Amino acid sequence: KVRVRFAPSPTGPLHLGGVRTALYDYLFAKNQGGEFVLRIEDTDTARYVEGAEEYIEEALEWCGIIADESPKKGGKFAPYRQSERRDIYDRYTEQILKTDYAYIAFDTAEELDAIRAEYEARGDVFSYDNKTRNRLRNSLALSEEEVQKLLDEKTPYVVRFKMPVDRTLNLEDIIRGKFSVNTNTLDDKVLVKNDGMPTYHFANIIDDHEMEISHVIRGEEWLPSLGLHTLMYEAMGWEAPQFAHLSLILKPEGKGKLSKRDGDKFGFPVFPLNFTDPATGNISKGYRESGYLPEAFINMVALLGWSPADDKEILSLDEMAKEFDLNKVHKAGARFSKEKAEWFNHQYIQQKSDEELLQILKSSDLNLTLSDEKLLKIIHLMKERATFPKDIYENGKFFFEAPVSYDEKASKKAWNDETSTVLGELASNLEGIDFTAENIKSTVHDFAENKGLGMGKVMMPLRLALVGELKGPDVPDIMELLGKEETISRINNAIN
Ligand code: GLU
Repeated sequence: KVRVRFAPSPTGPLHLGGVRTALYDYLFAKNQGGEFVLRIEDTDTARYVEGAEEYIEEALEWCGIIADESPKKGGKFAPYRQSERRDIYDRYTEQILKTDYAYIAFDTAEELDAIRAEYEARGDVFSYDNKTRNRLRNSLALSEEEVQKLLDEKTPYVVRFKMPVDRTLNLEDIIRGKFSVNTNTLDDKVLVKNDGMPTYHFANIIDDHEMEISHVIRGEEWLPSLGLHTLMYEAMGWEAPQFAHLSLILKPEGKGKLSKRDGDKFGFPVFPLNFTDPATGNISKGYRESGYLPEAFINMVALLGWSPADDKEILSLDEMAKEFDLNKVHKAGARFSKEKAEWFNHQYIQQKSDEELLQILKSSDLNLTLSDEKLLKIIHLMKERATFPKDIYENGKFFFEAPVSYDEKASKKAWNDETSTVLGELASNLEGIDFTAENIKSTVHDFAENKGLGMGKVMMPLRLALVGELKGPDVPDIMELLGKEETISRINNAIN
């Protein structure tokens, strides 16, 4: 049975990399008819951020990535929060200490700092490993009596993994293939801290085993831990899951990892964890606040490192799940593109109905002073050019307010000495008609023909008078929407 987990630490908001890991976890699980588990890895209390756990569930839900089991939802392997699984870890700490793969170490931080300084003074790098462990204060270096005495005196200790000497580990990753690592390059990692809490490494493999995880899909920053994890499974006598490590998401330039600092290049989170940045007092930005539709956002994220068949680009979550294949995930880093992200959003806006877009606009803080009927017409006319829902409003501002000034370059192009007279006459012709786009069009057409003017010679200044610039949808459509009274008042404003 395929069981996949997303195991974030609640240390801050979710960025693109985290969302992509969660999404691939989810897509793979669904593709295989398996289960997707959300587990919160909160054993590191120093890095814990208040509210981050709730945030993670909310952000995933916004994306449509719904866990089958999670802290909120519960499930067969609850609890799904590591801080609540202490008794399970305690049991396995006892177990691993009985094997030859772990030992107790009493060294204090000061002792370790001192020895590190000694190494550095010699130009060496200190590492707690098979070459150094014998001269340190641990159960491998001390006699049994000395160890017992320290334990009786309640000396604080940690549990360390005893990295075997000079073994070649043959490892396998679904995306990267086979590779080997010599254990002499690895150190004796802490498994249990002196407060009794397991570290990430130990808690992670215990939970993956206990929760019957079949596939671990995670970021490539964990690849160097694969040797240790594989040996921990061996130490516990457990079968290891299969692993897939995802490549980095790169900056638009292609060099380096896209990070929080790439804010305006869209290195921002799904949505901010704390809506206002305490440092600046500014409303911080996320994809959600910027007007990304969740469907567009995850479609964009999915294609950062995976190509569906036939180079299809627009896929729903279900379609992606049907097609997802870990073997088709790219080994090379995926370059993030802001233009591409915007392209996806534009595409998804076109797929929305006018009614859906109206609801989106109404749930924003835009000042929509027109009736729903008019708003729907504006949406219909403007959505084709919109990348974000708010563009419909911003590019269609002239529907809400008459222009207060006229674009200079456009005026030079559209306006001459006769224009005022021409538009004045046209305005009186418009007075008498039923104000539909069709009637308007034929009235303007007949008027221009009578005057011996080209359509453009009339439409251009008309557009300028109504919009203030030479852009926007067809002029008769604009006029119908504005209504007769407003249209004539704008013409009069422009010619006087
Ligand atoms: N808690 C780890 C993280 O925050 C999980 C890594 C893993 O998936 O094993 O990335």
